[in-house]
Amino acid sequence: MASPPSLLSMPLSGPGSIAVIGAGVSGCALVAQLRRLGFEGSISLWETGRGPGGRASTRRSRHDAELRIDHGAPLLNITGETAPLLLQPLLEGGWIEPWQGAIAQLQGESTLRPGKADALGLGHLYRGLGGMDHLCRGLLSLAGDGCDAHYGTLVRHLHWEDGLWHLLGRHRELLGQADWLVLSSTLLAHPRSRMIFGWEDVPLQVAAAPLGDLQLEHALTVIAGIRSEARSNLLVVLDPKAAGPWRDLPFSLLHFDAAAQQRWGLQRITIQPQQDGRCAVVAHSTKAFAADHLDVYGTHSAVARMLQLPPDEGREDTVIAALTTALEQVMAPWLPGLDLGPAQRQLMRWGAAFPLAPGLPSELMFCPRSRVGFCGDFIAGVGFGRIEGALRSGEQLAIELRAAADRCV
Ligand SMILES: Cc1cc2nc3c(=O)[nH]c(=O)nc-3n(C[C@H](O)[C@H](O)[C@H](O)COP(=O)(O)OP(=O)(O)OC[C@H]3O[C@@H](n4cnc5c(N)ncnc54)[C@H](O)[C@@H]3O)c2cc1C
Repeated sequence: MASPPSLLSMPLSGPGSIAVIGAGVSGCALVAQLRRLGFEGSISLWETGRGPGGRASTRRSRHDAELRIDHGAPLLNITGETAPLLLQPLLEGGWIEPWQGAIAQLQGESTLRPGKADALGLGHLYRGLGGMDHLCRGLLSLAGDGCDAHYGTLVRHLHWEDGLWHLLGRHRELLGQADWLVLSSTLLAHPRSRMIFGWEDVPLQVAAAPLGDLQLEHALTVIAGIRSEARSNLLVVLDPKAAGPWRDLPFSLLHFDAAAQQRWGLQRITIQPQQDGRCAVVAHSTKAFAADHLDVYGTHSAVARMLQLPPDEGREDTVIAALTTALEQVMAPWLPGLDLGPAQRQLMRWGAAFPLAPGLPSELMFCPRSRVGFCGDFIAGVGFGRIEGALRSGEQLAIELRAAADRCV
C-alpha cells in the first residue's frame, strides 16, 4: 500500500507562506510574533468579521461614528509569572493601558464588596486604549502591517493539493493558497459548525483525511470534544442626560458572586462612558441564562450575520426584556426608579464565549507533517479561556512555525 503523502517531504523554495484563519487576539499575536522573529514569507489573514478583534472586538457603527462598545471581553488580565512577550510592546505603542476603573463585587443581598470575584479579574488588568479592538490593531501594527488581511471573508472549505493548502469560500471558490495553514478558532475543526450552520462536514476533518497524519487526527479528535459556554449580552446605549448617574457610580465593572448570579442571571456589568457624553452599559448573562436562550442569536450577532438570518424579533425582544428587568433590579439601590425602556438596546449572543478545560494540549498545537497549526484560547496552559491564553498561544506557535519553516528550506 502506498504510504500517505507528507506535505513536509515537499521542500519549500523559500521561507514559505502562511494562511492564518481568524483575526482575533491569537491570530493577530501569531502574525506579530512571526514578524518580530524575522519570518520573511508571506502571511495572509482571513477573517469573517468586519475587522480584527474576534471575541475581544469593539462594536463601531458607520452611522454613529462616536459610539464604541466593547461587547465581548472588556479587559485582559495577566496571571502568569512572566508576562506575554507582546504585552510590553503593546503598552509602549499606546495600544493598551492598565485598567484604571473601579471594580466591585455584588453579593446576593445587593451589598457591594470592593474587589474581583472570578478568574477574569485576577492578576494585572489592562484594556484596549480607545476600545478593546485596539489590542488586535496594535498586534497587527507590531507586525509592521506585514500581512495581507482579508476581512468579511468566511473560509468555508479547506483542501490540500500539490503541497499547498487551499482556502475556499462558500461556493468552493478559491480564496487563497499557502504552504502552512493555521486555525486560530475551532470553527473549521469542530462538529458545532454542523449544528450551527447546518454544514454537512467538518472542513478540516475532511481535508485531513487523505493526509494520514496521526498527530493531526489526534488533535482533531481532542478539538471535537471541546465544549464551550455561551453568553447572552445586553447592550444599552444611554443618551447624555440618562448617562449622568451611571457615570457617577462607585464602580465601572461589577462582578456578581455566585448568589448574585443565581438571583439575577447576570455575571458582570461594564459601564463604558462615551466621549460625547453618552454611556454604554453591557450586561453579561450567566452561562445558565445563555444556555436557556441558546437559539436566540440576536440580530447583530456574528452567527446571524454569517448565516444571513432574518431577525426573530419576538423571541429576541423577550430575551432583551428579561435582561433589561434584571439590570434595572440590580441597579435599583444606586439608580432607584431606573427605566431602560427608552434606551437603545441590543442583544449580542456569543455561542462559544469561553471554551471549557482541559482544551487542546500544547503538544498538539503544531502538526508539522501536514503543516497545520492551531492557536487560540482553547490551547491548554496559562490563561486558558482568556485573552492571556490567546496571546500566549499565538506567541508559542510563532516560535514553532518559524523554526519549522527554517528546517523546510
Ligand atoms: C462576553 C465575553 C466576555 C469575555 N470576557 C473576558 C475577560 O474579561 N477577560 C479575558 O481575558 N477574556 C474574556 N473573554 C474571552 C476572550 O474574549 C477570548 O479568550 C479571546 O478573545 C479569544 O481570542 P482567540 O483569538 O482565541 O479567538 P477569537 O477571538 O474567537 O478569534 C477567532 C477569530 O476567527 C474568526 N473565524 C473563525 N472561523 C473563521 C473562518 N472559517 N473564516 C474566517 N474567520 C473565521 C472569528 O470570526 C474570530 O474573529 C470574554 C469573551 C466573551 C465572549
